[in-house]
Amino acid sequence: MKVGFIGLGHMGAPMSGNVLAAGHDLVVHDVRPDAAEGVLAAGATWADSAREAGVDRDVVITMLPGPGQVEEVLLGPIGLLAGLPTGAVWIDMSTSVPAVADKVRALAGSRVTVLDAPVVGGVTGATGGTLQIFVGGATGDYLRVRPLLEAMGDPERILHVGPHGAGYTVKLMINLLWFAYVTITAEALTVGVRAGVDAATLHRSLLASAATSHFLERDVLSVLERGDFDDSFALALACKDLGLAVDLARQTGVPAEMSAMVEQIYRRARAQYGDQGGQLLPMKLLEDLTGTPVRLPAPQE
Ligand code: NAD
Repeated sequence: MKVGFIGLGHMGAPMSGNVLAAGHDLVVHDVRPDAAEGVLAAGATWADSAREAGVDRDVVITMLPGPGQVEEVLLGPIGLLAGLPTGAVWIDMSTSVPAVADKVRALAGSRVTVLDAPVVGGVTGATGGTLQIFVGGATGDYLRVRPLLEAMGDPERILHVGPHGAGYTVKLMINLLWFAYVTITAEALTVGVRAGVDAATLHRSLLASAATSHFLERDVLSVLERGDFDDSFALALACKDLGLAVDLARQTGVPAEMSAMVEQIYRRARAQYGDQGGQLLPMKLLEDLTGTPVRLPAPQE
C-alpha cells in the first residue's frame, strides 16, 4: 500500500517505523524535519508539506497533538486534503474530537474516506506494534484498512467501536478514567503512609482488595519504585485530553464534577512542572506539598 504518515513524535516515529517494516511504501512529514531521521534512514521518503505527503497515497495517517494541529495539517494552505487523490483514506490516530473530521468529510464528500482510530498503549505499544486501536467510521472502510492497522496494533485489540467519532470518544473516556486513577491513587497512598502504614504493606493490601486496579498493579510502579513520572506522555497532552473530555461532558449534558476536578489537578501540575513534564507528575504535587514521597524498596533481581 502507498502510505503517508504525518506527525513523527513520541508515538508517530515508532508507529511509522512499523508501517514501513510491514512492507508499505511510506512518505512522511512533520514540522520538525529532524523527527523523521530514523524512519528516513530505514527507507521512507520525505515530503516537504502535508499536501505533498498526500499525493499518490492510498492511505494517509495523522498522529498529531490535538484538534488544532489536525485542522492545520488537513485544511491549512498546504494541507493534506488538497493533496489526497480521489479514493484515498485519511486515518486520524491522534487523540482528538470529530469537529475537524466532520469539516473534512463535508468538504471532501465521497472523494476521501475518513476514519478516526486513536490508540492506547503508549510509546512501548507503539514501538512493539502492540497498540490497542479504537476505530470510528463505516465498517467496510475499517475492514479495508485493518491490515495496515495490524502493522501498528495488536490484532486482538483493534476494535471497530461505532460510526465517525466513536473512536475519539472511547479514547477520551479511557484517558479520563486513567487520569482519575492517578490523582485518587496518589491521595490514598499519601494519606495511608502519613497515617503510619508502611508503603509496601499499603500497596500490597490495596492490590489484594476490591479497590485494586490495573493502575495500582502496573502503571504506578514507575513512581513507587524509581521516582519516574513517565515523560513519554507530556502534561500538555494530558491537559488537552482532559479539556476535551470535560467539553464532551458539557456537550452531552452530563454533570461531571469529578472529571472537572481531575482536569484542574492536571492543570496545576502543568503550571508547576511545565508542558513537557510527565503524565504522573500530579502524584508529585502531593509529595511536594506533604513532604511524603511514597516509595517501595527496589524489586529483588
Ligand atoms: P508528540 O508531541 O511527541 O508528537 C506530535 C508530533 O506532531 C511532533 O513530532 C510535532 O512536531 C508534530 N506536529 C505538530 N504540529 C504539526 C503540524 N502542523 N504539521 C506536522 N507535524 C506537526 O505527541 P505524541 O506523544 O506522539 O502524541 C501524539 C498523539 O497521540 C496525541 O494526540 C496524544 O494525545 C496521543 N497519544 C499519545 C500517547 C503517548 O504515550 N505519548 C499515547 C496514546 C495516544
